[in-house]
Amino acid sequence: MKKFFALLLTIFFLAAPVHAQDLGVGLEDISAEKYNAAIEKFFNTLPAAKGEYKSNLRPILIEGAMNTETEILIRALKNPAAFRELNYLFVAGTYKNYPVVVVRTEIGVANAAAATALAIKKFNPVAVINQGTAGGHDPALKIGDIIVGAHSFDHTAFRSAYSAAGAGIDLTKQENIGTYAYDEATKKFQAYEKFFADTELFNMAFKVANTHKNFNVVSGVISTGNTWLECIDYINFLNKKYGSSCEEMETNAVAQICQNSGVPFIGIRVLSDNVTNDNRYLPETAKVSQDFVLLVVENYIYDILRR
Ligand code: SAH
Repeated sequence: MKKFFALLLTIFFLAAPVHAQDLGVGLEDISAEKYNAAIEKFFNTLPAAKGEYKSNLRPILIEGAMNTETEILIRALKNPAAFRELNYLFVAGTYKNYPVVVVRTEIGVANAAAATALAIKKFNPVAVINQGTAGGHDPALKIGDIIVGAHSFDHTAFRSAYSAAGAGIDLTKQENIGTYAYDEATKKFQAYEKFFADTELFNMAFKVANTHKNFNVVSGVISTGNTWLECIDYINFLNKKYGSSCEEMETNAVAQICQNSGVPFIGIRVLSDNVTNDNRYLPETAKVSQDFVLLVVENYIYDILRR
């Protein structure tokens, strides 16, 4: 049934592309608020956890920034129990008889990093999957397509070239300076220009993609920053210089915290918008990412954790 709806949704998106260039406008609407408010009511009905989290097996941690990006995951949990730490919501339960924790990180890099650090301390996860929506940087990709992040980077972590007052702004003259994370070999924090996906999680995502053809899945590069870009020249620049497939506001920050703590990580994103070829923002695409990630989690449990 779930697969059927994902298929319907995908067909719908494929059938109705609207070209931003033709219309000469930017994205129609960048608010997911109308969906988030209704879901909040359901989240408030979740039973609060009693006492500290206990589990013999290390749980899988799945993250989403907003209600729209976590509702399906949370509804999939058996025996859900809600923890709240610094006002972040963590819901622990089981999926396919394996412990899973879903975290609502809230939007942006600082929130994503904080919620992940808290979750790693509190739940000791065996792996972290950050998922949700993103904006396309590659005109070959459509709304509803899924990008499995082979790596991510912070597109706001750059040093610009020098230019004098009045010389104008050209951000294309830049060098990425990375973000700082712990390196086990040197026992120091060092700059990482990119963070790579865990190989087992990455391969698992493509095992699922190859057996569930209703999802349109590509390997790609996820660009992270507290930005929402609609300037096509700059987007094209990021696509050409860094191979950026899409932008969003959390993945690289979470990858950074997972690098600090040695926890396997992957970022998986569905395109909710792609200003290079379409003028819509469809936050409801968050369903596609969650459905796909649940299949990845199921396969990871059976093939890796229970082998
Ligand atoms: N402020 C609005 C919309 C938030 S959208 C609201 O509250 O409803 C921002 C979130 O969606 C971030 O978590 C980000 O990861 C993701 N996202 C989707 N498309 C994006 C884009 N084109 N640029 C940046 N972030 C995007």
